[in-house]
Amino acid sequence: MARYTNSICRICRREGEKLFLKGNRCFSEKCAFDRRSYPPGQHGQRKPRLSNYGIQLREKQKVKRTYGLLEKQFKNLFKKAVRMKGVTGENLMMLLESRLDSVLYRSGFAISRNQARQLINHGHFSLNGKKVDIASHQIKPGDVISVKERSKNLVPIQAAIESVREVPEWLKVDSAKVSVEVLTAPTRDTIKMTVQEQLIVEFFSR
Ligand code: SF4
Repeated sequence: MARYTNSICRICRREGEKLFLKGNRCFSEKCAFDRRSYPPGQHGQRKPRLSNYGIQLREKQKVKRTYGLLEKQFKNLFKKAVRMKGVTGENLMMLLESRLDSVLYRSGFAISRNQARQLINHGHFSLNGKKVDIASHQIKPGDVISVKERSKNLVPIQAAIESVREVPEWLKVDSAKVSVEVLTAPTRDTIKMTVQEQLIVEFFSR
């Protein structure tokens, strides 16, 4: 499957804000965005003038890249959000936040969604007692995700747990069992991200 292989920090610089894609580095003085907060490339320091389309495109790219999705995956999720009841933009954010990799990142079992995906692919987690290795799996209220017994002392997982900052209220982490229970579905107000999801809806409705 295709994947993004360029520098991760370029994404933040392109989108003009910190997207926290590299764990602890994002909170250190090594953060590339803190040092050079203008877009990468030869003309990066010129002030861009964006059309409406450009603004919508940038918002879509920002969210897609924050969650580490490819264009096709993002489009499919958007189509699913359209079919659901309620506000499409909010549905989209809820679907993104309910992905297994995102839930593990929010729970503090990985320092980034990227690392969460890698740990899932390597089979370090179980969902309701069964093996799970699909990062895009949609988590539902009542689900319990646990770190497998043999993986509890893995350095990346331990390091992530030690550096956890804030767990959203819809997740209940059990540090002793190294597991997390999904109490409710995420709502838009529990997703602390500055996103204008309506712009993404407008982008796909052109
Ligand atoms: Fe973005 Fe983190 Fe890189 Fe800073 S360190 S530019 S926040 S990914």
